[in-house]
Order: sequence, then structure tokens, then C-alpha cells
Amino acid sequence: MSIKTKLQNIKLNLLNNITLVAVSKTKPIELLKEVYDQGQRIFGENRVQEMVDKFEKMPKDIKWHMIGHLQTNKVKYIASFVSLIHGVDSLKLLREINKQATKHNRIIDCLIQIKIASENTKFGMSLNDLQLLLKSDELKTFDNIRIKGLMGMASFTIDNHQIESEFRYLKSIFDQIKKKYSDIEILSMGMSNDYKLAIKYGSNMVRIGSHIFGSRKRK
Ligand SMILES: *Cc1c(COP(=O)(O)O)cnc(C)c1O
Repeated sequence: MSIKTKLQNIKLNLLNNITLVAVSKTKPIELLKEVYDQGQRIFGENRVQEMVDKFEKMPKDIKWHMIGHLQTNKVKYIASFVSLIHGVDSLKLLREINKQATKHNRIIDCLIQIKIASENTKFGMSLNDLQLLLKSDELKTFDNIRIKGLMGMASFTIDNHQIESEFRYLKSIFDQIKKKYSDIEILSMGMSNDYKLAIKYGSNMVRIGSHIFGSRKRK
């Protein structure tokens, strides 16, 4: 199936208000260009160096989303251009993003990653951590970041009931904090294998890699 057909098939499943992030990690520039030529303008990467390289080579109207776990000492490399950082899970990281954004005179949008999977390999905050974070006085001093919503990754399992309950849980947290904080509008959940379920449970941003670009080699 061509990339064009794959993208079209995915878009048939997306309602108007759902943003598609094309996850291009590990994939060569030529493939990204093919996807770009189909009109896609949002790309997701999970490694800083790879994202910087691709940013330099690709057209400048692309919005680059950092979807991987971001180390504090690497924020400086992407701060000048990154459009949305999905995996934020500490005040320390927000502090650094704010500092680097200030240097570039930008406001950087961030999503807080919530741990919803049962595996302990996945990063993210608990609901309690999130509530403490949102109430923190220091956060209010960060003028160069905006917390726009939440991101989560479901367990890696074929058990749809488990995935559903994890998505439902994340949506309930999203609804809860959205009532209190007006900036909160993005719910980033769903990947190639579970995005339809994620949409059913209220996702408005899906991160799709292998269903567009083909499977990746295991590391
Ligand atoms: C790799 C990755 C994706 C995309 O995964 P696919 O299964 O290829 O769609 C989505 N989100 C995150 C955080 C990822 O690391």
C-alpha cells in the first residue's frame, strides 16, 4: 500500500477535531518528504539529535513534536523550533523548558505525560503528582511555557479491555483538570495499534508511526 493510501485510510478514521502526528522516528528523510508531499505538516520524533537533523533538512513549515522522554540537558537543542513537547513529567523539566524558551523569546507548549500503563517502563506522572504540579507556585512564574494538555501511552498488550480502561482513566483526568485550567485542550493518546480505541475514549491527538511509515526495526 502506498503512503498516500495509508494516510488516506487513517484520515478516514479521524474526525475533524483530531490532530494527526506522523511519528517519523528512525525513518529516512525521503519517506518524511513523501508524507510531507501528501500535505502532512506535523511530525513526531523521540530523539533530540534525530529531530534536529530532520528539522534542518525538511521544509520550515513543519511543526515538530517531541514525543519521547526528554532529558533536561537536551532541551537547549530543540528550544528554538520545537512546537509541542508531549512527554513532560517533572517540574524540573518544565523549569528548563521555560528557561530555554525565554532565551529564544518563545512560548513552548507542553503536555504532561500521565502514567496509565501497568508496565513500569513507561514514564509519566500520577494524578496526585499532576495536581501538586498544577498548584505549584513556581509553575505560575514560568511565563514562557504553556501546559496545553495531557499525553499517555497505554500498556503494550492485546487485551483491549485493559487498554480501554487506561484510556478512560486518562480521559477522566483530562476532563477534571480541563474544568479548572482554561489552557488545557489537547489529549494526546493513541498509536498505530490503538488509536481507534483512543478516539472512542476522547483523544483529540493521535501519534501514528508504523501505520504510515511501515514497521521499525527493533533496537
Ligand atoms: C513510537 C511512538 C509512537 C508511534 O508508535 P506506532 O506504534 O509506530 O504508531 C507514538 N507515541 C510515542 C510516544 C512513541 O514513542
